[in-house]
Amino acid sequence: MFVLDSCCRTFFEPLPQSIGVPLDTVVGHGVVAGLQWLLASRLNQHLTSQDWVLACLCSLVSLGMDVDHFIAGGSLSMKAALNLQTRPFAHTVAFLVTVVFFVYLAASKGLLPAYTPLLVATAFGGHQLRDSTKRGFTWGPAALGSSPLTPYYTVYLPIMALVPLLLSRGMSLINPNRHQLPI
Ligand SMILES: [Zn+2]
Repeated sequence: MFVLDSCCRTFFEPLPQSIGVPLDTVVGHGVVAGLQWLLASRLNQHLTSQDWVLACLCSLVSLGMDVDHFIAGGSLSMKAALNLQTRPFAHTVAFLVTVVFFVYLAASKGLLPAYTPLLVATAFGGHQLRDSTKRGFTWGPAALGSSPLTPYYTVYLPIMALVPLLLSRGMSLINPNRHQLPI
């Protein structure tokens, strides 16, 4: 994950925004989220086809978060999407907490698969954490402001390294039949 993120910073950031930003989003958000899900699944047992499907879904949810740039910009123009005055709604902590809460409620009532809250939290949380190294966490509406930048090496990378471990624990709590490999 560190290697992928370094590639993004080294190769994609210097590119023109219209090319660099989509590549950075696909690799830095999408691929990383999917890999975290796969790693967590592998810590529990041999990977199944369901694990691969869920990992792809985790990638897509993380990538899909950036659609809010276009919604807030009111057009499909990349320029408008990248030059918003405020952070778009899905990039706020309030949105993350609200969505995970309602997804958890729906999953606990059997309306969604049991893994859904973990998947959404991993995808949205990882996306916001990575963005916070460049812009800080945006709490909610602009008036609430945002946090200082998250330190990359001392906070972001250690948390990202811990996510698969925590996620695998969460997965085995949801499905105790999954064999928990010793960590
Ligand atoms: Zn984003």
